[in-house]
Amino acid sequence: MISVSDGQARILAQVTAVAPPEIVPIGRCLGRVAAEDVRSSMDVPPTDNSAVDGYAVGAADIPSTGRRGLDVVAELAAGTVFDGALTRGQALRIMTGAPMPAGADTVYPQEIVTREEGRILVPPIERGANVRFRGEDVKAGAVVLAAGTVLRAQEVGVAASLGLAQLVVAQRPRVAILSTGDEVAEPGTERRPGQIYDSNRFALRGLAETAGAIAADHGIIPDVYDELRRSLLAAAASADVVLTSGGVSVGDYDLVKAVLGDVGTIDFWQVAMQPGRPIAVGRIGSAHFFGLPGNPVACMLTFHLFVRPALWKLAGRRDLFGSGCHAVAIEPMRKKIGRREFKRGILSYTGERWEVRTTGPQGSGILTSMTTANCLILIEEERGDVRPGETVWVEPFGAA
Ligand code: AMP
Ligand code: MG
Repeated sequence: MISVSDGQARILAQVTAVAPPEIVPIGRCLGRVAAEDVRSSMDVPPTDNSAVDGYAVGAADIPSTGRRGLDVVAELAAGTVFDGALTRGQALRIMTGAPMPAGADTVYPQEIVTREEGRILVPPIERGANVRFRGEDVKAGAVVLAAGTVLRAQEVGVAASLGLAQLVVAQRPRVAILSTGDEVAEPGTERRPGQIYDSNRFALRGLAETAGAIAADHGIIPDVYDELRRSLLAAAASADVVLTSGGVSVGDYDLVKAVLGDVGTIDFWQVAMQPGRPIAVGRIGSAHFFGLPGNPVACMLTFHLFVRPALWKLAGRRDLFGSGCHAVAIEPMRKKIGRREFKRGILSYTGERWEVRTTGPQGSGILTSMTTANCLILIEEERGDVRPGETVWVEPFGAA
């Protein structure tokens, strides 16, 4: 029996190869991973500019009390530049984003000035007010996105603000997904007596794509040694990672382990977790292989714990694990000491604190527990039963 953490460490130690990066247009970079540091060649913003629509003035023209009259000498729209310089007693009508003219260091919002014919009356104001300074967002030469950063909407926006039309990103790992089992039927086909519909292939595909991989569907493979052998070899020839579900327990038709030992190298573990069955980990040629349990919740959970970090490492990501937080359990939770247990949870905020309860029955075949849940509740190995009011660790779904 090995622990979840030891299993994760053993897998990550195996995953080293990172495919050469590729160049992708900025508009298609969402969700990709920066393969190299992105350094700015310019200051952003490139010049001091006005943060409001109003009037630019020099500090010497700001009255300390009362009001002062200034001549409005020109008008400046965003995207245009004032060639001259303001002198004493002068103000420039300026729009948001327009560069500050020489001789000005402060902008009056138009709402606080009184306008007269060709002149304005201005009150006291803090020197430098309403000016956005050159380089206050990004300084030339700064590393704005470090290699290994996932490009969310904001990272894509920042890269574009540097004028970059394309980025060097890691290639997406290719994942081949197979289901095993004579009892597994294709959705949309007639189900024979004793059969269940395949859910794992589709859940795994969603998980793989959400993790940034390119998924290829290799169908359902019956519990026939030679067919499984042929299918695994074909999958491994075309993918960086091969995922199967089912056939890794100790039943008479659980062939994955034997076939993996035949066509590749095998590591077969009992992981001290619940839900969780044995998983088969290994290699077939250059592909990483994960034989996940057939029970749908265990299948999704073992992907989350063992496959996703491997895919993220293959994709060049810096952070390989998601985040979580503490919440107060509001119902008792059964827990066996010595293994890590994962309950499907419903996390909510009361206005004062974060609370969590389970979704109800926690059988590893109850896939709807994943649809009613919004988080996983992680209860550590050394803990026993959880009483209401105790704190537990939760990992919200969607928190990467
Ligand atoms: P196995 O490890 O192959 O004995 O499978 C364990 C349990 O998971 C059995 O109840 C299977 O019917 C179920 N199962 C296996 N594969 C799938 C699948 N692709 N979709 C849904 N359930 C499955
Ligand atoms: Mg099976």
